Amino acid sequence: MSSRDILYLLPHVQPFARQFLQACMAKGHDVVVTCTYRSQEEQDDIYARGRTKPGKIVTWTRHSKHTDRIALDFALVKNGKCSWDIKADFDEDNVADYFEVGAISKEIGFTWGGDWNPPDYCHIEWRHADDT
Ligand SMILES: [Zn+2]
Repeated sequence: MSSRDILYLLPHVQPFARQFLQACMAKGHDVVVTCTYRSQEEQDDIYARGRTKPGKIVTWTRHSKHTDRIALDFALVKNGKCSWDIKADFDEDNVADYFEVGAISKEIGFTWGGDWNPPDYCHIEWRHADDT
């Protein structure tokens, strides 16, 4: 089963994940964790979508940092609902909130999926799985 609990991340990543959530809150961004750990079985299942199973392609990799327990997915929350609108600017400072939150994650030391091609705006991951 996939998990939303930070406790399913590797122990040395957990404090940075908490720091990320606290920093988002401190800057007025309501953020919820939607996924931390995902089993290889689930990743394979997601990978099959749009390939050998019906649906749209939703992932590009079978080797997810979620299975390594060093990545988390998040969503912005507005009025109790998740928003995946990457242009959303709930704090009305003329900067899209996903980009602000991505910048916060990078200050802490995460890699932000929004910098990738194709981008994954809702995803951050720790740089490495070992404890260095
Ligand atoms: Zn992810």
